[in-house]
Amino acid sequence: MARIYLDHNATTPVDPEVLSAMLPFFAQTYGNASSIHTFGQQARAAVEQSREHVARLLGARAAEIVFTSGGTESDNLAILGVVRAVPSERKHVITTAIEHHAVLNTCQALEAEGVEVTYLPVSAAGVVDPAGVREALRPHTVLISVMMANNELGTIQPIEEIGRIAAEAEVWFHTDAVQAAGKVPIDVAHLGVDLLSISGHKIYAPKGVGALYVRSGTRLAPQAFGGHHERDRRPGTENVPGIIALGKAAELSLAKQATEPARLAALRDRFEKAILDRVPAARVNGAGAARVANTTNITFSFIEGESLVIALDLQAIACSTGAACSSGAIEPSHVLTAIGLAAPEARASLRFSLGRTTAAEDVDRAIAVVPAVVEHLRDLSPLYKKPVSTP
Ligand SMILES: *Cc1c(COP(=O)(O)O)cnc(C)c1O
Repeated sequence: MARIYLDHNATTPVDPEVLSAMLPFFAQTYGNASSIHTFGQQARAAVEQSREHVARLLGARAAEIVFTSGGTESDNLAILGVVRAVPSERKHVITTAIEHHAVLNTCQALEAEGVEVTYLPVSAAGVVDPAGVREALRPHTVLISVMMANNELGTIQPIEEIGRIAAEAEVWFHTDAVQAAGKVPIDVAHLGVDLLSISGHKIYAPKGVGALYVRSGTRLAPQAFGGHHERDRRPGTENVPGIIALGKAAELSLAKQATEPARLAALRDRFEKAILDRVPAARVNGAGAARVANTTNITFSFIEGESLVIALDLQAIACSTGAACSSGAIEPSHVLTAIGLAAPEARASLRFSLGRTTAAEDVDRAIAVVPAVVEHLRDLSPLYKKPVSTP
């Protein structure tokens, strides 16, 4: 029985076209993109073409794209780079309670440096209120960082409105678009963002490569020191194969953007409806908001999410709790807690994220398997009272 992968928000397989595009850059066109000989020039030309492809996916100019080692580094470079470039003593950052840890923990590091940080709450549907952003502004606010699509819920945030507020207040605006890229159209000018992060392995390129869009004119202090790569914004010999892969992945994402989200939305909606029909007391989190097409997060009360992930894995279905597992203790997800779920409900929630590998038959099998596994685990739960069926 083939395994079914419903965890595309954790990572995606490398697209075969992406793989074949990057392979020559390991052992054939292996030059250092900074070398002046032909080996180097060939690598440089390919890197710059990739930059064009990434820029096109985001509606940016190639010179505004900085290649990084992934989403985490892009988030760190954006936030630390902008805040540390501001010379004033007192600084304030606005972010949200549902950001990825790459943003949250970076903001915490800034707090340790004396920077004030506001973590805005979100609605029960998992969306930040732009009015809350406006109210949180202070005279010394230097940066707003709000993600474009949440990785656990798929909820899409009102980036355009926040962009207008940031522009009016003359505050830098960063968005973590790692989970939005390839799923919704992105146009940095339209969104009004100054910085935007993407990650290769969430868009069918390999792990360990990403990019940061930096609007021209944005003051960014480098966060690592070395050579003059990436226009002095990110030193280190370019990861040429990874960059080529990211460029190809961006090109494919853009080409598929017109059809793939609609295909995934139909599959996701069918899955959600079937699960809600067949599993008593199941609830979809973030259902009241606009969401990316591939993600559903469902609470199966009375069950431990980790147990359900393992039980489904035994049935060859891969999904996730979305909660970070630290030192053996299962902390409830900060995102689910932020939308108002009590800890036991948060721990009873699973994320299913579909993708390019997902076929209709995969969804059919998940629909056939998940309700039975949930019922079995609930039968073992002392908290669960089986609904009495009326004859
Ligand atoms: C995966 C992810 C990241 C981190 O990206 P990496 O390339 O794995 O470092 C950051 N933000 C969001 C929303 C993500 O989903």
